[in-house]
Amino acid sequence: MSEQLRYYSTNRHLDDIPGIAPFRETVSFREALLMGQAPDEGLFMPERIPTLPAGAFRALKGATYADAAMLVAWAFLAGEIAEQTLRAIIDDAYSFEVPLENVFARKYIMRLDQGPTASFKDFAARMMARLMSAFSDPGKRLNVLVATSGDTGSAVGDAFKGVEGIDVTILYPRGEVSGRQKKQLDTIGGNVRAVSVDGKFDDCQDLVKQAFSDPDFASFNLTSANSINFGRILPQIVYFVWAWAQLSRDGEPAIFSVPSGNFGDALGCEYARRMGLPVEKLVMPTNENNEVPRFLETGVYEKVSPSRSCLSNAMNVGHPSNLARLFDLYDGTVDRTGIVHRIPNLDEMRKHIYSVSISDRETTKTIKRIYDQYRVLLEPHGAVGWRGLEVYLELTGDVPLCISLETAHPAKFPDNIRELLGINPDLPQSMKDIDERSGDPVLLTNDYGKFRKYLQQNLRVAD
Ligand SMILES: *Cc1c(COP(=O)(O)O)cnc(C)c1O
Repeated sequence: MSEQLRYYSTNRHLDDIPGIAPFRETVSFREALLMGQAPDEGLFMPERIPTLPAGAFRALKGATYADAAMLVAWAFLAGEIAEQTLRAIIDDAYSFEVPLENVFARKYIMRLDQGPTASFKDFAARMMARLMSAFSDPGKRLNVLVATSGDTGSAVGDAFKGVEGIDVTILYPRGEVSGRQKKQLDTIGGNVRAVSVDGKFDDCQDLVKQAFSDPDFASFNLTSANSINFGRILPQIVYFVWAWAQLSRDGEPAIFSVPSGNFGDALGCEYARRMGLPVEKLVMPTNENNEVPRFLETGVYEKVSPSRSCLSNAMNVGHPSNLARLFDLYDGTVDRTGIVHRIPNLDEMRKHIYSVSISDRETTKTIKRIYDQYRVLLEPHGAVGWRGLEVYLELTGDVPLCISLETAHPAKFPDNIRELLGINPDLPQSMKDIDERSGDPVLLTNDYGKFRKYLQQNLRVAD
């Protein structure tokens, strides 16, 4: 039996900071998964990153995606879950394709948009939902509360649909989601309820936070499912490993480009490299919310507030929640509010990581150029990723194997695509009937008293 990995809080060193009582203990994966965040509002990190020999990665050539997921997840979870249980979770979670589309020479787009809600968030949400079900107390219901501005809510909602012992309540801002996003959220049904709030995304997040700190709900087993949960980071290591194994020749390293907002996806690549995967460089382009590229260039961190509204709307983040993890991996500390307590090792960071801000103008030009030149269809997030890769290669010269991530399906952005290319992107199988679906969400005003009453009347405590 291998030794269990323990998880610590990124805030553990923060003595003498008003309002923070550093959490110096460590917890198991199960506890990190069910707690979501550390009690001092830091993020959980594994004490040690398991490494694998190069041969283990190379042996995944021609293997299924589930085989790669098993290799990575078992390295973290051995000792906490039975091997067959983990295998069953993975086989059930990953029942869709992961296309690697050639653009030119050995430059590829990895399409992470074939899951049920057509964004890469399906990969993490589906595995996390099943792990939560496996790790939760039998006989006691787990109540997941999520505030969403789009992709997270539908991915999480769909992932938990029909999962035993768990109920999900999703709050979204009525006026800030697209028509198709609203349909995706409202029509999940069963154990997943959508609450349409008359307010903004921040209001939804505040309602959820108030419920989490309300003593009346202490016995309700509330938990969150947003990207600060390590249970969502772990599955995001897998596709880097799998793609490298399929495309690498003789163990050569690859460059990955990961369009980033909260940097949870990019973190998956950083962990993959630290597990031993040959990653030449992690390129993590952003949209016009350029706080991270600016930090890498100048060494000064300044969040963008309020965040800028760009076409790649899932990346409109002015202070990324996963920055605390990225800093911690390079011996730095930044807190939830964006204050840097210890500057990370910048030389080391620059050796492994490159980041660049891509404007909306460059984003649309890239969508058009790549379609005209190669007949490869990108949506705004994927275009930021691809353009960032190009900028990096222009600086450094060519590297043969490069893989850029497409994080959403172009059909999620029909207006942008129609306007730029004059075509209507085909809906993926999972979204074929989306325009005909109709659901009726719970309608609430932005008022904690009303939300509280709604939860008291509707949450189930025991099975
Ligand atoms: C969430 C999201 C991103 C950003 O991912 P992070 O992990 O927050 O950096 C990029 N593209 C799409 C389509 C997303 O939904």
